[in-house]
Amino acid sequence: MDKNIETLRQWIEESDNIVFFGGAGVSTESGIPDFRSVDGLYNQKYRFPPETIISHSFFERNPEEFYRFYREKLVIRDARPNVVHRRLAELEAEGKLRAVITQNIDGLHQAAGSKNVIELHGSTLRCYCARCRRPYPPESISESEGVPRCECGGVIRPDVGLYEEGLDQGDLSKAVDLIRNADVLIIGGTSLVVYPAAGLINYYRGNKLVLVNLSATPRDSEADLVIHEKLGAVFARV
Ligand code: ZN
Repeated sequence: MDKNIETLRQWIEESDNIVFFGGAGVSTESGIPDFRSVDGLYNQKYRFPPETIISHSFFERNPEEFYRFYREKLVIRDARPNVVHRRLAELEAEGKLRAVITQNIDGLHQAAGSKNVIELHGSTLRCYCARCRRPYPPESISESEGVPRCECGGVIRPDVGLYEEGLDQGDLSKAVDLIRNADVLIIGGTSLVVYPAAGLINYYRGNKLVLVNLSATPRDSEADLVIHEKLGAVFARV
C-alpha cells in the first residue's frame, strides 16, 4: 500500500491540473454522519427513510417533518475541516489543484481555505426564501422552530438540492469541463453508486484516475490507482 501512496505523491508532485471529486467520506472524518446511512435512530424517530424526507415532494407536503429532520441531521454544528480539506486547500494554493467538486453540503472545504469549490448538492450555509428569493443566513433555519418564514410569507429553505430537483446545470457543466480536462482526477470518500454525480467519472479522459475509498467500489477496475484506506490517512501522507 505504501507503494500506492508513493505513486499518488509522485503524480501530485508532477501535476498542476489536479481535480478532486469527493463524497460523504470526506465529511465523516470531521464527525459528520452520512445521512444516507440508515441506522436504528432514524427508524425510531422518523417514519420515513432519509431519501424520502429530503425530497421535493415531501418538503412541499410535510414541511414540519422536513425541518425536524433537517435541524437534527443536516445542520452542522461544531464541525471542523479535517486533514483532507486542509491538504486540498494547500494544493490549490500551491497551484496544483484546479478545483474541488463535492457532494457534501457542509461548507468545510471553504472553511479550510479552498476557493474553487463546486457544490453539486448545494450548501446548508446558504438559505433563501422560496417565494421572493431573498437570501437568509443559516441561523434563520437552524435557530428557528417549525417552518421558517420570510417577511413575504414564503418558506425559507436551504440552498440544498433535494431529491427530485436535479442538479444545477451550471455547476454540472463546470464539473464536467474540469473533469474532462483534468490531468489527475482523485475521487475520494464515495462508493460511486449515487447518480447522477457518479456518472461524472465517465468524462475523465486521462490516465491518472485515482480512487481512494475504504471499501471497494464498482468502478475500481477502471481506475489507474486504487487505495483502500481512510481518506485522512492517505492525505496526511501526500
Ligand atoms: Zn420572501
